[in-house]
Amino acid sequence: MSDDLLNAQNDLARALVEARLLLPSGVPGLFGRGTVLEDVIERIDALVVRTAEGDGARAERWRFPPILPRALLEKSEYLSAMPQLAGSVHAFDGTVQDHQKLLARVHGGEDYGDLQKQTDVALVPAACYPVYPIVASDGPLREGGRLVDVFSYCFRHEPSPDPARLQSFRMHEYVRIAPDADDARAFRDGWIDRGLLLLRGLGLAAERAPANDPFFGRAGKLLAVNQRDQELKFELVCPITSAEKPTALASANYHQDHFGSLFGIKNADGTTAHTACVGFGVERVAIALFKTHGIDVAAWPVDVRARLWAP
Ligand code: ATP
Ligand code: ZN
Repeated sequence: MSDDLLNAQNDLARALVEARLLLPSGVPGLFGRGTVLEDVIERIDALVVRTAEGDGARAERWRFPPILPRALLEKSEYLSAMPQLAGSVHAFDGTVQDHQKLLARVHGGEDYGDLQKQTDVALVPAACYPVYPIVASDGPLREGGRLVDVFSYCFRHEPSPDPARLQSFRMHEYVRIAPDADDARAFRDGWIDRGLLLLRGLGLAAERAPANDPFFGRAGKLLAVNQRDQELKFELVCPITSAEKPTALASANYHQDHFGSLFGIKNADGTTAHTACVGFGVERVAIALFKTHGIDVAAWPVDVRARLWAP
């Protein structure tokens, strides 16, 4: 990372912490949200929800905790694609003697990972993951498909000095389970346009950019090239700490029949459903606003304030 970028990230983090927008924990990428930041985040989220009303079909509103069954993470192939970002939950499950060993290690500042056991749960990497098995278990997809609204804390093991790259952040997603490819793609494309309008309406210099997920390893390079060639992922990006490398505030993804096949989501005629999702990183949108319009919300442009603080 260049010195300029690192300085810009450190400066922004410091300003956000000094203003009590972010509440530091001492661990990179792990912050609490102060009163004003949380208020702005809630208002951004309300704007996302109002924008989603344009979909006509009322979304089913499902809420999941920030953990999911480990088996679901494994089945979704997340560990093949992005093992470096995944987090799983471990817990102590030993004898009294093991406990003594554990405490000695804790007090000695040593690693005690081998004294904990993997549990049945893992951390949610993206808000949409818990949706697919439930839709599959409901049986054949109803005519016209489904639309699900999910909002969850997500975990990604990517500690960074960049205050816009958190280890735990909230993602508001709309997930379209569509009968066919055209429907899923159209949903995704419609959201690219609406998402851009939403972000630009907040005075952000948002652009649409073809993107790929950070797939791991050599095989991952191929997956990334494939994802770009087939135009499966677009990000809505905006400069935060770098003009050359703008940050993704939202992404709009077409999964083809990836989740449909893995989880067995079928149409009544036996064909496999296609899925798409759009996800807004609400902390990132808020941080982009503070970076663009300044730390003092009272001094933000009148039209931006009007949009967010609309009745
Ligand atoms: P990036 O390319 O910056 O790693 P991404 O494109 O992999 O992000 P997605 O998986 O598409 O992210 O997630 C949807 C949205 O969630 C992103 O557009 C972003 O707004 C938000 N997001 C993703 N990772 C983080 C993070 N580490 N901290 C804060 N928000 C994040
Ligand atoms: Zn998703």
